[in-house]
Amino acid sequence: MKISLNFQIFAGAVLGIAIGLALAALGKDAAITQQGVYLAGIAGGVFVDLLKMVLVPLVFTSIVVGVANLRAHHQIHRVWITTLIYSLVTMAISVTVGITAARIFAPGKGLNLEMFQGAIHGFETKQMPVGEFFASFLHSLFLNPFAALAQGNVMAIVVFSLFLGIALVVGGDRYLNLLMLLQELFDLSLRIVGWIMVIAPLGIMALLIKLVATQNIALLGSVAKFVIVILGTTVLHGLVILPLILYAVTRISPFTFFRGAREALVTAFATSSSSATMPVTLRCMEQNLHVNASITGFVVPLGAHLNMDGTALYEAAAALFVANLASIDLNLVQQLVVCFTAMMVSIGAPGIPSAGMVTMIVVLQSVGLPAEAIAILLPIDRLLDTVRTAVNVEGDMVGCLVVQKLVD
Ligand code: ASP
Repeated sequence: MKISLNFQIFAGAVLGIAIGLALAALGKDAAITQQGVYLAGIAGGVFVDLLKMVLVPLVFTSIVVGVANLRAHHQIHRVWITTLIYSLVTMAISVTVGITAARIFAPGKGLNLEMFQGAIHGFETKQMPVGEFFASFLHSLFLNPFAALAQGNVMAIVVFSLFLGIALVVGGDRYLNLLMLLQELFDLSLRIVGWIMVIAPLGIMALLIKLVATQNIALLGSVAKFVIVILGTTVLHGLVILPLILYAVTRISPFTFFRGAREALVTAFATSSSSATMPVTLRCMEQNLHVNASITGFVVPLGAHLNMDGTALYEAAAALFVANLASIDLNLVQQLVVCFTAMMVSIGAPGIPSAGMVTMIVVLQSVGLPAEAIAILLPIDRLLDTVRTAVNVEGDMVGCLVVQKLVD
């Protein structure tokens, strides 16, 4: 019998918490606790390293291929400009919602986790005046692509990939070989992610053992609050904001929309993958909501790669949560950088399960927050991924209708 990955991850998380609690009960100084934490630290570290390893090729190829697929539709310039503007606007709204909710409800505030003490020190030494910080951030967006790839500078990679993707579209058929090569690289990267996910249950178990054995129980309460804040705001975006945008532009009622979009939303929820949901999304758009195939054929694949409201919202709010856990106060510019980075890496994240969690590392690092914090976010990621993927796909569908209305 084949046990689903979701269940294995869930079991790994439960086991990790149980073992962590057992070790904590034996006392922090017991030899077995120290050895257990040490081994779990190594195993968890390898898992996080594996995710980081595949991040760069995945983001690079995902964006180039996503943008370059526009080539088949190059006669409709207005469609793609409208799509891009729509994506940027809705993602900007969603990160604003996410970060505002995280500020208002402040999950994780006052915990001051031991695990992050070193990180706080590093953060303090990295502080610089606001203007300088912003200038150096802008500067880091445009880098020699080889340096960006080698250093794993994801922001610069996103920028260069967008340029390369657009150049491939404009260049047309002359560059088909390169496009095919990149497409194959993308497929291979996805395959490697699949292998890494096979050991995800063990990786998550190890990360949790270390986390629970060395932390206080108050953390679990904070995580629960964070989960509620994220689910609440993601649902708000999906049930109120996106339908409002849809109604304002097209006068289509939310009921008509949800009736037509239902299958795709449920599939997205169950698979946690915008890409895997794509065939269903296309069907819902064309058959149920009667969007022209030349529009869906363009907006849906592009959206599955680039347009991710749910992911952007999550990443911005999660960064603030981590800052709270580490008792770090982000200033306004740093919050703006978090929002901007969250948008950029959501564009870079492919539409596969937990992609947002992989790119989360970049958002944390953009303002010097500890990457190890994903140990706290990982176990809850599968749960949150379901809802954020559904909202990602909903955003693509609303996009089809909005673009059709505006371009017609
Ligand atoms: N699973 C999401 C999607 O496919 C991406 C993410 O992890 O946020 O849309």
